[in-house]
Amino acid sequence: MRIDLHTHSTASDGTQRPRDLVRAAAGAGLDVVAITDHDTAAGWGEAEAAAEECGVALVRGMEISTRHAGQGVHLLAYLVDPTFPPLVAALSRILDGRNSRVPAILERLRTVGIDIDVHDVRRVASNTTATGRPHIADALIDLGVVADRNEAFLRFLSPGRPAYVDRYAASLTDMIDLVVSAGGVSVLAHPWGRHDPGALGLLGLAELRDAGLGGLEVDHHDHAPAMREELRGIAVELGLVVTGASDHHGDGKTDHELGCFTTAPEQYDELLARADRARLASGRMTPGVVHA
Ligand code: AMP
Ligand code: ZN
Ligand code: FE
Ligand code: FE
Repeated sequence: MRIDLHTHSTASDGTQRPRDLVRAAAGAGLDVVAITDHDTAAGWGEAEAAAEECGVALVRGMEISTRHAGQGVHLLAYLVDPTFPPLVAALSRILDGRNSRVPAILERLRTVGIDIDVHDVRRVASNTTATGRPHIADALIDLGVVADRNEAFLRFLSPGRPAYVDRYAASLTDMIDLVVSAGGVSVLAHPWGRHDPGALGLLGLAELRDAGLGGLEVDHHDHAPAMREELRGIAVELGLVVTGASDHHGDGKTDHELGCFTTAPEQYDELLARADRARLASGRMTPGVVHA
């Protein structure tokens, strides 16, 4: 069983349409794939139809932008009812923050002499619901300013670079609670990726578990091997599910090929068991796993 629980499509900042992502997952020999676009369920319908066709099981999820102790934290939310009104409201506020940031970033790029406007971004981000910095990177590639997304982040879009602009994110603890109420299960995405543990050390993670967190994404490209082992130990100590995943973005990110990290079958089963308990307690109509 090969299980990859974190991937992106053109519904957010991946480069493959949801159906192509699911087909690629089947082609890569995965048995289970989760679609987890940033802050949206917009890709779920198309992904579901493709999964039924091509023999891969599909977990419908999303990667929600949150903030905790001043740090940006990504929360994977699986098998939630996407029509749960408080979740719809929270996502719509995050998506508004994404959209209102775009003109501010473009203004800063013009300040450093780059001739770019919103049409350049719309051209490269026509399918997306969740506009992000990678789309602005794609526009910069299109204009010949940078060679790839990575260069765009390094020169312009990362914190401390001239075109970085912050955006709204939900409270992590509120969102963990909301995912449970929406009948699903949450996993902290790459908790120690790209920054030191901060508030996500043993004690902080224990509090998040008590607030309803289901698991930790331990095996991820952004964690060095020693970090993975330490985080795995914490997960075991706290009774959190351990996941591993590619965080695939199509061609948008190198070293994130489908299935480059995977989740153990018994951990996957435990994740589904937790989602099922939340579903029953919530009384919500949640999307089950799509089996081919
Ligand atoms: P945003 O959603 O606008 O905050 O942008 C963050 C997204 O950009 C995340 O999904 C990352 O996967 C992606 N990202 C961050 N750094 C890079 C990079 N160097 N190259 C490609 N994508 C990146
Ligand atoms: Zn992304
Ligand atoms: Fe992430
Ligand atoms: Fe991601």
